[in-house]
Amino acid sequence: MLCSSGTSGGEPKIMPSIAEDLERRTFVYNLTMPIMNQYVPDLDEGKAMYLFFVKAEMSTPCGLPARTVLTSYYKSKHFKCRTHDPWNDFTSPDQTILCNDSNQSMHCQLLAGLVHRRQVLRLGAVFASAFLRAISFLERNWRQLCEDIRSGKLSSFITDPSCRSCMSTVLSTPDPCLADEITRICSQNSWKGILCQLWPKAKYIEAVVTGSMAQYVPALKHYSDGKLPLVCTMYASSECYFGVNLKPLCDPADVAFTLLPNMGYFEFLPLGHNGTLLMDFDEGDVPNDKLVDLVHVKLGCFYEPVVTTFAGLYRYRVGDVLQVVGFHNNAPQVRFICRRNVVISVDTEKTNEEDLHRSVTMAKKLLEPYDGLLVEYTSYPDTSSVPGHYVLYWEILYCGIKTEAENENAVVVDGSVLEECCIAVEEQLDYVYRRCRSHDKSVGPLEIRVVEPGTFDSLMDLFISQGASINQYKTPRCIKSKKALKLLNSKVTASFFSPRDPKWVPKMC
Ligand code: AMP
Repeated sequence: MLCSSGTSGGEPKIMPSIAEDLERRTFVYNLTMPIMNQYVPDLDEGKAMYLFFVKAEMSTPCGLPARTVLTSYYKSKHFKCRTHDPWNDFTSPDQTILCNDSNQSMHCQLLAGLVHRRQVLRLGAVFASAFLRAISFLERNWRQLCEDIRSGKLSSFITDPSCRSCMSTVLSTPDPCLADEITRICSQNSWKGILCQLWPKAKYIEAVVTGSMAQYVPALKHYSDGKLPLVCTMYASSECYFGVNLKPLCDPADVAFTLLPNMGYFEFLPLGHNGTLLMDFDEGDVPNDKLVDLVHVKLGCFYEPVVTTFAGLYRYRVGDVLQVVGFHNNAPQVRFICRRNVVISVDTEKTNEEDLHRSVTMAKKLLEPYDGLLVEYTSYPDTSSVPGHYVLYWEILYCGIKTEAENENAVVVDGSVLEECCIAVEEQLDYVYRRCRSHDKSVGPLEIRVVEPGTFDSLMDLFISQGASINQYKTPRCIKSKKALKLLNSKVTASFFSPRDPKWVPKMC
């Protein structure tokens, strides 16, 4: 079984998968190289520093493993027993990719990438967020990595026996010259363009930079000084692999995926431009008579893909919003617009409005003993630091952070209560969020920023001044506009972070 990053009622969804799905996935991976070859020559003359990681597994009641689709691929013989391919010569030894401890895995993979820095022709990770986490790890740990290179000895905190054994070949001799070069580069004040200095022959960065990952494009451009194209090769999910990008060097905003009709049976549910359903039926339903066939989709229109898969899903709604932007022969080319109903996301977790609202509703109860009332809230994915984290803007009536001197009747709400509110929100968010926070560490501690009374009225005024209707105005549950964000930040009186990780245990399905 595959566990997807989608959840249902807070639980991770699990998808059936069959052995031959691995053949289909391998086919798509193999297809990306001939496509790249048309645009970037000589990729067989060096290595790829791709940082791949396995995720925690679940187990079904009868003991079947349930893994994410990529973990299942890395653990399969299709990956582990692949024949040597000069076009796919990775710097990371397989054992470092398969290491369950993400810190040890990251250290070893970056070390191998640095040792081979002059042969590396491409850089990447599956998601842009994961690649930026690697850069952040490097910022914190380059001295230790250089020490390993200088001494030819792996740091003692790497205890995984497979990692130690494979890295002994990578670090076969002490290399003080290489350690000095890397030290010089990493000691600079600014890390703008650092990727091109550390890996001077790199020709591009490969990672998903579409959908919610688009928020990471500016950071990737900063670290590459805008010199390395950002390549997004495919659109895929646990349910099915969908398509490939035939113009890999295009701007991230223009990426379109050509659907591969042999991956599954594709049908499409017509949607409004913002992902709204055009017809009246329940969210979970599939109106069979309204589905459009692959060959009948229309240019410019928006759809949700509905798949029937070899593994047994029948007319399954994938939950994404796609726009048809062209055709390759007769195969539709789609742009990934967004995930339906997702309000906020910083890594692979996808939080919808309902989950966010439920979590905030539970957490705000902690204010009640202090006569505090949460008047309004909104959220923002802060990705200015790595890992990104959720910011909630809270307007609290009466209780805010008042001292007794300011309001004799108000009971003081001290910071620890708001910190407890932060963790209470996180404890209520879904399984994948909590896994990203507690296990993968790909999402940082949630922050509550308390704003001055009247802030949400000012926010409404701003949106109305920009054309929103007064009658229909609803506070957006996630802020996208820079102006609105600036306004909110100018009204912040205090900010609080979650003091600990939310509880998360690998689940029996
Ligand atoms: P999962 O089932 O956990 O593998 O997640 C699959 C979901 O990830 C898809 O349904 C999309 O929402 C998202 N996704 C996959 N590939 C892309 C892509 N290239 N661009 C944007 N989102 C993507």
